[in-house]
Amino acid sequence: MKVVVVGGGAIGLSIAWRAAGRGLTVTVIDPEPGRGASGVAAGMLAPVTEVHYGEEDLLALNLESARRYPEFVAGLEAASGVETGYRACGTVAVARDADDLAALEELVAYQRSLGLEVERLRSSELRRLEPGLAPGVRGGALVTGDHQVDPRRLTSALVAACRRSGVVLRAERAVAVEACSVTSEGGAVDHGDAVVLAAGAWSGALDGVPAEVRRAVRPVKGQVLRLRGPGEPPISRNVRGAEAYLVPRHDGEVVVGATVEERGFDTVVTGGAVHELLRAAIELVPDVAELALVETAAGLRPGTPDNAPLIGATASEGLVVAGGHYRNGILLAPVTADAVAELLATGVAPPEITAFSPQRFERVLS
Ligand SMILES: Cc1cc2nc3c(=O)[nH]c(=O)nc-3n(C[C@H](O)[C@H](O)[C@H](O)COP(=O)(O)OP(=O)(O)OC[C@H]3O[C@@H](n4cnc5c(N)ncnc54)[C@H](O)[C@@H]3O)c2cc1C
Repeated sequence: MKVVVVGGGAIGLSIAWRAAGRGLTVTVIDPEPGRGASGVAAGMLAPVTEVHYGEEDLLALNLESARRYPEFVAGLEAASGVETGYRACGTVAVARDADDLAALEELVAYQRSLGLEVERLRSSELRRLEPGLAPGVRGGALVTGDHQVDPRRLTSALVAACRRSGVVLRAERAVAVEACSVTSEGGAVDHGDAVVLAAGAWSGALDGVPAEVRRAVRPVKGQVLRLRGPGEPPISRNVRGAEAYLVPRHDGEVVVGATVEERGFDTVVTGGAVHELLRAAIELVPDVAELALVETAAGLRPGTPDNAPLIGATASEGLVVAGGHYRNGILLAPVTADAVAELLATGVAPPEITAFSPQRFERVLS
């Protein structure tokens, strides 16, 4: 069976690698693999601290993908020879003032009502765990199951693993998808038994994409900073405040994110966003002020009307979608890849993705 994947971000590359592992012949079409949202993302793997009221189906998918992560990266590192920077570091949620604390207490109660593992911490306990936190923090919570990966290393590993497993990567921009074929800018046409549309926020921009998919996926801008010091970062766990989060890597990098903006396909980095992110980060972890600011960037999350991804077959024969992963596409790569590879190989969608059918928007958006 031959499959053509449009888009080589964390999602498209993971699918390609897993599908090749099941014996499928795979081509990935992308002018710049790994340079979309996956090249900007912080890489938090945070099903618990990312949970939002009313999104229990998405929580179940996020938890399932987090559970698969250690095995996924171990297999990927073995297949590629590239380290992914996966760290089972845990996360602390931090309240800076009384308002933050009230919101955090409510969230912790909700998380516990869902059976999630969260430990409420007093200010002194929090600072014993993370001495780099500001002395004035009011309290917080420890989530031992929310971890991180380095998304850039992850996509590099995926490219290497894809190549080693025989996946063909073609540096072209696709302009149209049809029943079992993809047309690229230069006019080349790739035929397959199936096409997987995994072009992130750009998934709606190709000709031939069903109307309900085109209308469901929109870009949501996120600005993010990368800082670096000479030694280990001033924190050892992910730190999440009300206005910013910080993700520390072993190589000394600290990622500070992120804005959430509805601005279409705009990726301009603004002075205001850099200022606000730095202010919020330094208020949480004062030593961030001593680090070198090495990069500012903006990326486009693939948002959807219900914040959940579109994974599965469309009404268009042979066209499968894996998109709209919004804030959790790095986290959701393993479960999405396994499910789509299963669907491609057997024709049957596994139960974990039935709630995320791209056809769920057919009546409302077509
Ligand atoms: C600031 C920020 C922080 C984030 N933090 C996190 C986080 O901590 N944890 C987490 O899980 N998620 C996070 N995300 C979300 C995550 O980045 C996305 O959900 C995820 O990267 C989506 O992956 P993707 O492969 O679908 O899309 P992308 O990574 O955007 O990849 C899409 C690919 O399609 C290609 N493409 C586009 N058009 C075409 C075309 N016409 N033909 C061929 N190829 C095409 C692009 O070149 C690109 O490589 C963050 C996002 C942002 C912006």
